[in-house]
Amino acid sequence: MYLSYPFSAGSDPCLRARNNAGRYRCACFFVLLCLLLARPVYAYEPPAHILFGGDLAYPPLEWMEQNQIMGFNVDLARVVARIGGSKAVHRLGSWPETMRALEEGRLDVVPMYYSQERSRHFIFTQPYLYSSHAIYALPTAARVSSIRDLVNKTVAVEEQSFAHQQFQGAALEPDLVLTANTLLALEAVLQGKAHYAVLASLAADNLLRQQHWELTRMGPPFWSRGYAFAVNKNQPEVAQWLEDSLGMAIANGSYQALYQKWQSDLEPVRADNRWLPFFFTGFAVLLAALLFGASWYWSLKRRVEQRTRELSAALAQREIAEQELRRAINFDAQTGLAKLPYFIEQLDDYFHANQRPVKQEKEILVIKLVDLDVIVRTFGFTRAEMVVSAFTTHLLKLDNTLAAYLGRGVFALFINKCNALELFERLSSAMAVSDPGLNSQFVGGSAYWPEHGRSAGKLMRHAETALAMSELRRRRWLAYEAAMEPSRVDLDIISIFIDGNVQGIYPVFQPQLDLRTGKIVSAEVLVRWQHPRLGLVPPNVFIPLLENAGLIEQVTAQMIDEAVRVAVLLRKRDLPCCISVNIAAYDLIESNLADIISQALVRYQGVPGDIKLELTETSVASDPQRVKKVLTQLSELGIYASVDDFGTGYSSLSYLSLFPIRELKIDRSFVGDMLGNPRNHSIVRSTILMARELGLVTIAEGVEDDQTLQILKKDGCDIAQGYVIARPLPEAEFIEFMRAHAAEVFDISQFMKG
Ligand code: C2E
Ligand code: CA
Ligand code: CA
Repeated sequence: MYLSYPFSAGSDPCLRARNNAGRYRCACFFVLLCLLLARPVYAYEPPAHILFGGDLAYPPLEWMEQNQIMGFNVDLARVVARIGGSKAVHRLGSWPETMRALEEGRLDVVPMYYSQERSRHFIFTQPYLYSSHAIYALPTAARVSSIRDLVNKTVAVEEQSFAHQQFQGAALEPDLVLTANTLLALEAVLQGKAHYAVLASLAADNLLRQQHWELTRMGPPFWSRGYAFAVNKNQPEVAQWLEDSLGMAIANGSYQALYQKWQSDLEPVRADNRWLPFFFTGFAVLLAALLFGASWYWSLKRRVEQRTRELSAALAQREIAEQELRRAINFDAQTGLAKLPYFIEQLDDYFHANQRPVKQEKEILVIKLVDLDVIVRTFGFTRAEMVVSAFTTHLLKLDNTLAAYLGRGVFALFINKCNALELFERLSSAMAVSDPGLNSQFVGGSAYWPEHGRSAGKLMRHAETALAMSELRRRRWLAYEAAMEPSRVDLDIISIFIDGNVQGIYPVFQPQLDLRTGKIVSAEVLVRWQHPRLGLVPPNVFIPLLENAGLIEQVTAQMIDEAVRVAVLLRKRDLPCCISVNIAAYDLIESNLADIISQALVRYQGVPGDIKLELTETSVASDPQRVKKVLTQLSELGIYASVDDFGTGYSSLSYLSLFPIRELKIDRSFVGDMLGNPRNHSIVRSTILMARELGLVTIAEGVEDDQTLQILKKDGCDIAQGYVIARPLPEAEFIEFMRAHAAEVFDISQFMKG
């Protein structure tokens, strides 16, 4: 037998190539070694029996003697199977039949020489033995020194053996005598049927020794090959299991013990050169050790490869998971749009890259679907989600837009500076066409880059401030202004009201004309504040501040008080006039409005018809349940409500009609320019029609000229309020106005003349 170190220069080029390919992993080899030994790599549960095949007469590797199957391969298979938790069952036969059985799956495993050709049909484990081939002949035969000399000679080989396959692939093939096993090949030479036999020397030498046949080896050994377990191609799990078990056998010393047991048979029994046994015995031990080391290395290499595969699969999975995680962190799940931190990050990148010169001014536009809460309360969450999704779809259709969703119906767009109101119109119309059922009201606020700041965080804050102001001032959209920031004056105002005992608050009254009768039937009380230090502070300045700070209640209570007092005074002079008081959302929800009104009525001996309430759409929608309860309670007392600024809010008339409401005040932004703006005129007209359908009284406010007054009358509007009738008047002037117009019916045509 000839043993060689598997990775020496003389080894199989194929194995050497694999070895080279594996070398780069050597650095991590020892690190992974610990991991590999620490945990089982392969969790395969083998079947109870594994069918091993082999040659009937192939000693010392496998053979049958007195019905006993024995041999190094057989013992090794048993040891390896046991280590792997299974049992080896052997079936020996002729070699060609054994090969066929393995190929067809009637056998699981057959030990054999590794060859590239064979690896196309079977899966090989690591080699556990190295051995070579030799030429055998009668001592009288013509001497040959290599297989090249066998051309035109008759050569016995075992059918389907490694040698057979080597000859088949060779350019010059000798005349082959095929036999069913090694013994028959030797016999063929002995009987003169073949001149030579080319056989695996390990088995041939053993057989010659057993049979005492005087055949001799010719030339040096050649075709040194690894001997390994070949597994049926369809059973990769078995191959892996076997590989691992063999590795374990090598690692735990079982293989070594077995090798020692078979050493005398595995080592050469004779050689043509007399010095060889002596030489070899010395080196055999060394080479066996090398074999052991090589096998150990091979086993670990395979495991490292396997573990590397596992680790790269785990790495790839981790990368996917990280990507998903990044997506979940950066993008909103419902809309798929960026979340705020990622949006800011992208914007800052852009600003950083486009610092100077600024070629294109940019805009952060924050848009809020203002009626989303109402939609949730009225139609449910699913409907609100559909509205958000539909709106997202339209945002995504905008060119050159980076969009983010900040939650609760608020979106942020990064766009070229543009006319936001025009953009709103486009979005509204697109929504109305594609999703008429999901239409929603929206307001916005913008901040411009670089005008309002050079960092995304700052611009975002400014855009949000502008949005908040739009809501507060009931405007559809506003661009940021420094004046929007809370000023020292604002804080001053709030602290004055917090301290209480506010000086200089007084009411003014603005008459309302009944267009049907031409009489002044009602008025609106409006607050005025003349502060000793701050001067005359407009209600548009301090009212929103007080509303926000939850301090409006004292103003409301004072105005209710004044309204009842003046209405009672007028009624007593036979000038009946219902005075309407502006009520903030906070008053409806937080304060006890009914008590405040009742107390005022008691104080001045008023009757419920002396006052009415004006509430904005937004305050109605802020807490519909509570508002409905308060309004019902008040209407049971005989106190009625109007919806102020109708058209600027986000509620539909049909939604508002669910509340006990008697009047609609059409906002002055529609009325003021309705003659010059057909769109506004048609809004006014259709509101009047719809209100009438619902049995509501309509009041047009902000009527500034007599022509508008005429047309409103023609359009069927019930009541008008505005400078054309009277400006808001201090108490004395108002009472005088009422007295002066008490007797006469307003002839509306007089305004035409005037
Ligand atoms: P508002 O309730 O819509 O009040 C009507 C506003 O329109 C008043 O402004 C009034 O002076 C003005 N106005 C009346 N006729 C005309 C007209 O023909 N043309 C124009 N351009 N304007 C007209 P004012 O008094 O400055 O009040 C502004 C806002 O302040 C009010 O709007 C209301 O929202 C709030 N406000 C005023 N008084 C009170 C109050 O006592 N309580 C509460 N909560 N809010 C009040
Ligand atoms: Ca009002
Ligand atoms: Ca109003």
